[in-house]
Amino acid sequence: MDRQQEFVLRTIEERDIRFVRLWFTDVLGTLKSVAVAPAELEGAFAEGIGFDGSAIEGFARVYEADMLAKPDPGTFQVLPWRGENPGTARMFCNLTLPDGSPSFADSRHVLQRALSKAADLGFTFYTHPEIEFFLFERPVKKGEPPVPVDQGGYFDHVPHGTAHDFRRAAITMLENMGISVEFSHHEMGPGQNEIDLRYADALSTADNIMTFRTVIKEVALEQDIYASFMPKPLTDQPGSGMHTHLSLFEGDRNAFYEAGAPYQLSKVGRQFIAGLLRHGAEITAVTNQWVNSYKRLWGGGEAPAYICWGHNNRSALIRVPMYKPSKGQSTRIEVRSLDSACNPYLAFAVLLTAGLKGIEEGYDLPDEAEDDVWTLTDAERRAMGIQPLPTSLHSAIALMERSDLVAEALGEHVFDFFLRNKRAEWDDYRNQVTPFELERYLPRL
Ligand code: GLN
Ligand code: MG
Ligand code: MG
Ligand code: MG
Repeated sequence: MDRQQEFVLRTIEERDIRFVRLWFTDVLGTLKSVAVAPAELEGAFAEGIGFDGSAIEGFARVYEADMLAKPDPGTFQVLPWRGENPGTARMFCNLTLPDGSPSFADSRHVLQRALSKAADLGFTFYTHPEIEFFLFERPVKKGEPPVPVDQGGYFDHVPHGTAHDFRRAAITMLENMGISVEFSHHEMGPGQNEIDLRYADALSTADNIMTFRTVIKEVALEQDIYASFMPKPLTDQPGSGMHTHLSLFEGDRNAFYEAGAPYQLSKVGRQFIAGLLRHGAEITAVTNQWVNSYKRLWGGGEAPAYICWGHNNRSALIRVPMYKPSKGQSTRIEVRSLDSACNPYLAFAVLLTAGLKGIEEGYDLPDEAEDDVWTLTDAERRAMGIQPLPTSLHSAIALMERSDLVAEALGEHVFDFFLRNKRAEWDDYRNQVTPFELERYLPRL
């Protein structure tokens, strides 16, 4: 046993932990959990805990497949919402096949593989997300629009507002779990909030996002409200994005930073953006994976719909945020397409793979777009070489199917599971007769 594993076992004794939840993430980004007794942990560290691996295929479950969950001791955390005595803790797991090789369907492994490719090129990958979500009144009635807990707007201070207390409780709980929060504020929509996590290596960030979603749901339950990460829950309000800031480091040097260059952005940084732009359309099925995701992207509310980059341009897919000299090497790029309901492991893996491709192939960065690209005509955008993002899950899947880059990033099995899932989702959706159609057509046709 190594020192981290010993530390976990000792902590479990000292803190009277009776349940240890082993966490992993299915292909669609749903957190899965199996609780084990502390006595099982030595075996779990050595060999893993067996389970039916078809649980991680999302809705495309076809056959039983024996797999093992091996807890990563570096992710051990006591769960604050389960009370002190007896305590409950969790660890994220790596999934393997019975012969010990990595499971073909493990999202966490997909990201680890992309990270090791970056490491071969000398880079470590850092990310930090700005996570938006809505708070609604309970109960949420089936089929009816949810009711926001307040009428606040962007950065509003809502005196005695639910959101205020909520953010305080949520941030306290996140910090108790070792997740640092940088900013939090009310967002544009009623009942909409944003919490920004401090930057960390991409694997820790993805784990933190999974924990974050659970914490937010737990705190909402405690306060008798409902928290949702649905990309676009309200027709006339902005959706919930997960802007994500990315940077590459070479050792302790920010590889995107070059003193004196425009926006302090190095050649590596420019090529990385160029990779994200050139492959932006084909990776969108992964960063925006639901039918509903496209209602956000094409529904205004400051969500990006066109593939371009800019500096102060909130309509762009990629933004290079303001450089603060006092922050030294904080040069980074912000990708604005992701929504709060993506699988963060898979999303980070495709973003990294696309960016690295730009570096490896030496892509040129197109000119930046400082216009508000939403207000241009199609012809103007075409003249500037600005392509749209996919307009529906259907067109996103069609682009992904033909993408060697996404197949390489996800690996053959996850690529297949994912597409099978998403085709089934689209087929279910396109058969629906929606309230829109009934309202529009029934009175006249
Ligand atoms: N909610 C917007 C989106 O969906 C973002 C708003 C903002 O943070 N500027 O992307
Ligand atoms: Mg923000
Ligand atoms: Mg925001
Ligand atoms: Mg932002």
